[in-house]
Amino acid sequence: MMSKKRNQSTLWRPGLIIMAAIIIPGLLLSILAIRTARHEEAFMEKQLHTTFSAELSQAVYSLQQLLESIQDSLDATVPVVTGKDIKAVIHKWDSTTSLVDIPFIFDKSGNVVWPPESDRSQRDRDFITANYNFFLNRQPVEVYRSISDDYVDQMIAANRKFPGKKNKKQSDITFRKQAKDAFARNSKIQKKVYKDLQRQGQVVPLRNVVTGSKNEAKVEAYTPQLSTYISEPMRFSQIVSSANSGLIPRIIDQQFTLLYWKKIGTEQIIGCSIDITKLLDHIIPLLPQTQTNVRYLTILNHNGKPAIPAESFSPRNWKHPFAAKEISRLLPRWEIAVYLVSPQTLSSRARFTALVITLLAGILFITIVISGFVLFKTMQTEMRLARQKTTFVTNVSHELKTPLTSIRIFAELLKDRRQPDPAKQEKYLGIMVSEIERLTRLINNVLDFARINKGEKTYSKRTCDINALCQELAANQRFRLEHNKFTFITDFPSGELFVFADPEAIKQALLNIISNAEKYSADKKWIRFTLVHEGSDAVLRVADQGIGIDPALKERIFKEFYRVDDSLTARVQGTGLGLTITRQILQDHGGDIRSQKNEPSGTEFIITLPIQTEESSET
Ligand code: ADP
Repeated sequence: MMSKKRNQSTLWRPGLIIMAAIIIPGLLLSILAIRTARHEEAFMEKQLHTTFSAELSQAVYSLQQLLESIQDSLDATVPVVTGKDIKAVIHKWDSTTSLVDIPFIFDKSGNVVWPPESDRSQRDRDFITANYNFFLNRQPVEVYRSISDDYVDQMIAANRKFPGKKNKKQSDITFRKQAKDAFARNSKIQKKVYKDLQRQGQVVPLRNVVTGSKNEAKVEAYTPQLSTYISEPMRFSQIVSSANSGLIPRIIDQQFTLLYWKKIGTEQIIGCSIDITKLLDHIIPLLPQTQTNVRYLTILNHNGKPAIPAESFSPRNWKHPFAAKEISRLLPRWEIAVYLVSPQTLSSRARFTALVITLLAGILFITIVISGFVLFKTMQTEMRLARQKTTFVTNVSHELKTPLTSIRIFAELLKDRRQPDPAKQEKYLGIMVSEIERLTRLINNVLDFARINKGEKTYSKRTCDINALCQELAANQRFRLEHNKFTFITDFPSGELFVFADPEAIKQALLNIISNAEKYSADKKWIRFTLVHEGSDAVLRVADQGIGIDPALKERIFKEFYRVDDSLTARVQGTGLGLTITRQILQDHGGDIRSQKNEPSGTEFIITLPIQTEESSET
């Protein structure tokens, strides 16, 4: 009982090792892979976002350069000194294809000198009305500035200190660039700056767009983002006092205008409104390709509407781009924005990748489990076999010793003539013969097993009468069996029944089965041995009323070295080879053997051997 438990635990140990060494790491690996796959969509989205943001930043930089250059190029067209020829500038503006829309001149007291009253179109009059109060200093205008520029200025003022770059001497340009980058990349710096602004009572406007996800439904729930441009109301006189020329963006009644102005001496201001359509003509060539098969890029105006006509693209909501950037303080509330052409493609591509990863992880895991299981089973079988071989050696030695001992005892008795009774002498001789038979059978089995394993087992097959063979064998066994108190029932047909077989091998097989019936019979000593002709087979049956065989093991008992693991079998000597060899012999003769429960108890072995017909004997 103890050893059985110990054996089972040694068989389970490799299983535990495999679990610990292969299955658990495999499982963890698979879980990890599946988790990564789940984040695939977010990862792809982030990657796209980074790519587009870089593209947008580049475009914003070019547009800012363009806007700054407008002022310079207009400045260049206006002479520095006062002159009567100032009107010639306006004529020049008119005749060239510059960005000038409505030119104007007004004097210090706000009187509009140009366009001349007599020559004003309705547009001119509307323009003057819209801006009159502003020029007259009666109404302030919102002047925008960049929060990041403010931050950079503050950094410069505070002795060039900003996170990560403390007290380093750098050129102003490099320093500015680094500070600007730090502001753009570091959300902590941004948060702090916004907090400071709010503390100062500064209202930071919200952007026109909400970005952040390709999922439109999610975007609705996002909090609007703060603009990086803040404004301050300023009167015209204030603006003019600090510079000689400038550009002022104005949004009047939802209409966007960009005003250019320049002082002419101390008396007059010349200026113009910029033609936004023409400005866009300058902007468009600076943009990256508007449509690719992944994204659509456009400029959104101060109302959050596309400023460039979108021919073949319409998102669900222009205000919800995938990524966007504000353009400049000169185009407040304008954005350059990117939309995914088909957001579903991103999801389905991510889903596909995730599926592939999950599938691969699954396959990996299943492969690991299966190979682990196979490995475990193989190890278990190998260990069982190793154990069975050891038991086999012990059993064989024991099986050899027992008959040899009894043969020796009886041979000595006869030799010393200590038993004068001829009947007893006959009995001793009988016992010796049966022990020798047992020995022969055992040795034959072991030798045959070795031959079968090496593929060297040969048969001398010939046509033989299986009926006669069985009857002879039964007659030989009867004496011993009956002597051992067995009821031995036989039933054979009349006449001959030919099979093509090696009679010695068939006898060996039958003796193995009859010997088993005898060995595993316990108290009920009863054996029935029959032969019938069924179809094309000779069917031999050997039944006993012994200990029986668990139906679950009825195939396993034919495996080499296998012996049923119970106390009854343990008491009987054996090697676990008898049935293996018997089945091999029968299969080599085109037949087979199986076992079934005998009624009312015990086991019945059924052997089939093909009958030799005229055709089979010809071949
Ligand atoms: P062994 O030398 O152990 O008898 P076998 O190959 O002949 O080896 O049989 C394998 C096992 O099958 C036996 O150990 C026994 O447990 C079981 N067995 C064989 N024949 C019988 C039978 N007639 N009744 C009960 N059990 C049997």
